[in-house]
Amino acid sequence: MTDETTRPARKPGDASATNGTGPARDEEPGKGATPANPLNGFSIDFSGDSIDFSGDSGASRPLTIDFGGAAPADAGSPVAVPAIGGSRTDAHGGGRTESKVIIVGSGPAGLTAAIYAARANLEPIVLAGSAPGGQLMITSDVENYPGFPDGIQGPELMAAFREQAERFGTHIVDIDIERVDFSSRPFRLWARGTEYRAEAVIVATGASALWLGLESETRLRGRGVSACATCDGFFFRDKEIAVVGGGDTALEEATFLTRFASKVHVLHRRDAFRASKIMVDRAKANPKISIRLNTAVDEVLGDAKVSGLRLRDTKTDEIDEVEMEGLFIAIGYRPNTEVFRDWLEVDAKGYLVVRDETGSKVEGVFIAGDVHDHRYRQAVTAAGDGCRAAIDAERWLEAEGITEVSTASAW
Ligand code: NAP
Repeated sequence: MTDETTRPARKPGDASATNGTGPARDEEPGKGATPANPLNGFSIDFSGDSIDFSGDSGASRPLTIDFGGAAPADAGSPVAVPAIGGSRTDAHGGGRTESKVIIVGSGPAGLTAAIYAARANLEPIVLAGSAPGGQLMITSDVENYPGFPDGIQGPELMAAFREQAERFGTHIVDIDIERVDFSSRPFRLWARGTEYRAEAVIVATGASALWLGLESETRLRGRGVSACATCDGFFFRDKEIAVVGGGDTALEEATFLTRFASKVHVLHRRDAFRASKIMVDRAKANPKISIRLNTAVDEVLGDAKVSGLRLRDTKTDEIDEVEMEGLFIAIGYRPNTEVFRDWLEVDAKGYLVVRDETGSKVEGVFIAGDVHDHRYRQAVTAAGDGCRAAIDAERWLEAEGITEVSTASAW
């Protein structure tokens, strides 16, 4: 477990210590690269073998997460955290490319599905993606995941998920799939020239929050900039903050944030909301919410933390600067469904459509987590969904005669 002293000091109401628990990777085309430092001074290097949390926490001992490669040099006795990945051959049948079940994605949904499938002796393969662990890997404090009264770092939580899945025989490969063929069984999936085959597939590839794409937004992410009001609202008690966006999410988050903030400014780039009328009316009726239309955020101001915003009137191009202690981005999400679109049904926003609880239009292909759920988007709901999908997959494999009917499930 992590040494508490390695965590940045923080207390409720201290927005400077806040770290966005929403996704922090800008994957919107043309909107800039992965942030250099989304974690409040922590650094995550997905290109190498380790995550170094030694940043500006003031800790005397760095916390290092090993991604499965060579053990890091002893830099002052790093605090041990479970290894979490690295496309390696391991004790659990490393190098396997065929399984009863392949799970695509390694966030809470994918790894929970893996834990359940592994405990049902299905020896699942997880194709974890090249940045394994999902949105929580770029999240610092997670304070709403049950079981952790003092909160837990996102990467630490995902390392524990992963260790638990591997303990029961999951083989995890940190690789992005490029193509699938769900036309017949075994289903086939390709990644970097390797073909993987499975009788059942669980798709748990998640969704990515959209960001404005400003350098200052990236730099101050976790220092007053967030994409998740549910996760971070608590840290903005009595602060004046803004929410950018004009859809249901923006207005819902603005309304939620009034529980904490002294004032919430909704900034929307047009003169008409995309959100439903009831949400707009509710926001307008809330005395703590002020609405500013035809307004774009051109810059987030502040060095160590958010101190203000540079705003532009989208009709007149007039610029003004306002003091602000926080900025919530609520401009929508993009589900990671591209490779499945030829085979599975997607809705108007590109999310996968589930049938019969966790199923899809292809028998044997199951769906879990944010890749279909744009309503709750929480780690705990994704984990629950992964559990459901694994149970459904196991029962389906039994019904198809692919696995023996178990008299007692090992859940
Ligand atoms: P959304 O409906 O796509 O709205 C995104 C908003 O962000 C739009 O107002 C858009 O402006 C704005 N926006 C997009 N890119 C921007 C940019 N680069 N800069 C500034 N503004 C930008 O997304 P959402 O609000 O997340 O909702 C997604 C879906 O979930 C919707 O179907 C929604 O109804 C649903 N939802 C429902 C509930 C509920 O029922 N309780 C709650 C939340 C979400 P424009 O309008 O100018 O395009």
